[in-house]
Amino acid sequence: MAKQGLFTSRDKTRLGKAVAKLEKRNKIDLKIIPLGGQSAIGVQNCWLIIHKNFQVLLDCGRKIANLRNYDKGVIPDHFNPDYSKIDFSKPLYVILSHGHLDHILGLVKLVQLCEEYKCHVTIYSTGLTIKIAKRVLRVNKLHELEALVYDFIEFDTNSCFQVAGIEIESFEVFHSIPDSVGLVLTIEDRKIVYLTDFKYCRDSDPQIPKTSRRFQKIGERNIDTLIVDVTGIIKNGWVNPVSLVTHQFREIFEDKNNAEKRIFITTFASDIQTIGEIAELANMVGGRPVEFDGTTMEFFAQDVELENQDQYTNPPVIFVTGSQGEKGSIPT
Ligand SMILES: [Zn+2]
Repeated sequence: MAKQGLFTSRDKTRLGKAVAKLEKRNKIDLKIIPLGGQSAIGVQNCWLIIHKNFQVLLDCGRKIANLRNYDKGVIPDHFNPDYSKIDFSKPLYVILSHGHLDHILGLVKLVQLCEEYKCHVTIYSTGLTIKIAKRVLRVNKLHELEALVYDFIEFDTNSCFQVAGIEIESFEVFHSIPDSVGLVLTIEDRKIVYLTDFKYCRDSDPQIPKTSRRFQKIGERNIDTLIVDVTGIIKNGWVNPVSLVTHQFREIFEDKNNAEKRIFITTFASDIQTIGEIAELANMVGGRPVEFDGTTMEFFAQDVELENQDQYTNPPVIFVTGSQGEKGSIPT
């Protein structure tokens, strides 16, 4: 018996017709080049779109694993995207999907290269992502180059704007950091969807059906290319809802046996959403102040909104660790 292939003969006929249709269409001056980060976690996520004379980077990450002092020391070149593919004599733009370091930390090297080649780069993103990206550039002592070498332009999570003659539509996605977006790029008559990190869990969160409907609508629009590179995308199953985690922490804070104990929590430092929810529970349910320790944890804690912590008198809850919850990021 013949081995069952991935495609049935009907699929192959359909695929053949679709390819023939695409080939008949006018060729356009467009290149899509992955510069790093594909199929891995916590690395240099970055795609280069070249259309005519313009270059647009979709995200600009850098490998962050085991780099606690990302603002100090020498970073190996291969931790960055492959910037050799960029022509610094031509207009350059960056669109950032969200504020995780593996999507924005590559800006440090990019800005340094732009300064070296006397090139200007305009960086587009949503409010929180720009705030974090500016902080990254500040701790790397590049903030004085703002306006001279780089500029930021803010857009809303659900909005339409133009970058280098390309129509861009941003759409909100649910991720562990607020202000995350996916993008639809319309280049001449081609539509490209860029959908990087997002979470899709079976939760009671009202954002899930909203996201689902949005994806469906975008899918109905004759998309030519889908760039999707999400952790766990090829695994079956569902992630646990955040509410399950927060429920467990509520029980820990309510447990009288823990009343005299300090509580240490380790997690990804950039998981601002979950950290914020647990911190609020620590305050309201546990009557505990919240503290942060570890370089990257302190970096992201600036975006966690907390009331005056002095009013809580029980033993503290302390969020510790480095960028990705690695051990030994703070002195014990
Ligand atoms: Zn992410």
